[in-house]
Amino acid sequence: MTSLPIPRFPAGFHWGVATAAYQVEGAVNEGGRGVSIWDTFCQRPGVIKDGRTGAVATDSYHRWEEDVALLAGLGVTAYRFSIAWPRVQPGGTGPVNRAGLDFYDGLTDALLAAGITPVPTLYHWDLPQPLEDEGGWMDRQTAHRFADYAAVTAERLADRIGLWITLNEPFVVTALGYAVGNHAPGRALMLGALPTAHHQLLGHGLATAALRAAGARRVVITNNYSPAWPASDSNADRAAARAYDILQNWMFTDPLLLGRYPDLSPFGLGGDDPASGLACVQDGDLAVIAAPLDGIGVNYYAPTRLSALPDSPLPFQMEPFPGYPVTAFGWPVIPAGLTNMLSLLARRYGAALPPLYITENGCSTDDMLKPDGTVDDQLRIDYVDGHLRAVHTAITAGIDVRGYFHWTLADNFEWSEGFSQRFGLVYVNHQTQARTPKRSYNWYRDLIAAQRAP
Ligand code: BGC
Repeated sequence: MTSLPIPRFPAGFHWGVATAAYQVEGAVNEGGRGVSIWDTFCQRPGVIKDGRTGAVATDSYHRWEEDVALLAGLGVTAYRFSIAWPRVQPGGTGPVNRAGLDFYDGLTDALLAAGITPVPTLYHWDLPQPLEDEGGWMDRQTAHRFADYAAVTAERLADRIGLWITLNEPFVVTALGYAVGNHAPGRALMLGALPTAHHQLLGHGLATAALRAAGARRVVITNNYSPAWPASDSNADRAAARAYDILQNWMFTDPLLLGRYPDLSPFGLGGDDPASGLACVQDGDLAVIAAPLDGIGVNYYAPTRLSALPDSPLPFQMEPFPGYPVTAFGWPVIPAGLTNMLSLLARRYGAALPPLYITENGCSTDDMLKPDGTVDDQLRIDYVDGHLRAVHTAITAGIDVRGYFHWTLADNFEWSEGFSQRFGLVYVNHQTQARTPKRSYNWYRDLIAAQRAP
């Protein structure tokens, strides 16, 4: 536990929290919403740890005013939420559902009235099921459908929303959704999932153009980044770390900022010709993907420690980090990994790197609501304290970081973990939906107030 005050961040720094539609909204059959791949996936026996679904989640579709009041109570200057594509276009294409847009319109106005900048993410993993039935992100058409959806959404909201995020963590969609299959849509294509990387990035590029045409002022894309640290100094482990680094960190960022894919030869793909592992890349695609951006969203939770896994298409395996505190998820708490990651981004992209936003950072803890109505989540306070200092160190070193969005406002549906992991600043009773601010909520509130004080 640190007692020194957190140093002052630059004026205008965004202090926020982040959520995602399927994790909080519930009301999956209301307001004309269509079916998403997560609705379908959660029905498969055994895929969600506690057998639950996001059908109710934290009921934020109905309780959004209570949530806006919690945000206002925190004093955040920005709120990152996601827009559910199946609410806006229930079929994934074609007719727009007015009630869906009305919901986000009302939320936007309420945030603005509370002095909070709305920062929507257009895609936080809830692909309309009819598009998955046509191939999902394996199909190039999905990129075009995504741009259409971005256009109709921005036509309605861009007059009041200045900062947009296109995709959340395309790496996770490719890796967990299509390569391994423990996330929706649950496909296990291994390296055959690579076209989903390209089609998401193409969708981002096309959507960026559509957003700008509709008047969006700033457009950002979010990925999750994790410095890849070798488990030993051996050449084999170092090569394993380099291979992992390509997949998680550079595969989804080089095309955006350098206009090319990294060399995929560590995976036996393409040798010197990176495109040959991505036969779906067409002439002109990379120019669309590399259109200028106003920022990169960095989601950071922990570094990844890797050792070699010979004779495997994925030549690495993940190793535990001995000697560090761990979250309830078992993830190590290593704030220095965040400074390291921000430095790696700055080093690799130099002048091509746009401003950075920490669009997610947080931890799950084994929280308990005590009889006196308090939740003492000291681990979360220590975690955020450490990571904010890590961001500040990067800023002091000259890296342009413009905001920090804590993951998340309130305990919610944690994907394949169901409700078993609590990431919120607010404790949620998942039976009654009662919300109780944790000690970390008060801590973050006081921190923001101190940072915003003249
Ligand atoms: C995702 C969130 C998720 C969080 C914690 C991120 O990868 O964007 O939706 O809840 O990590 O696992």
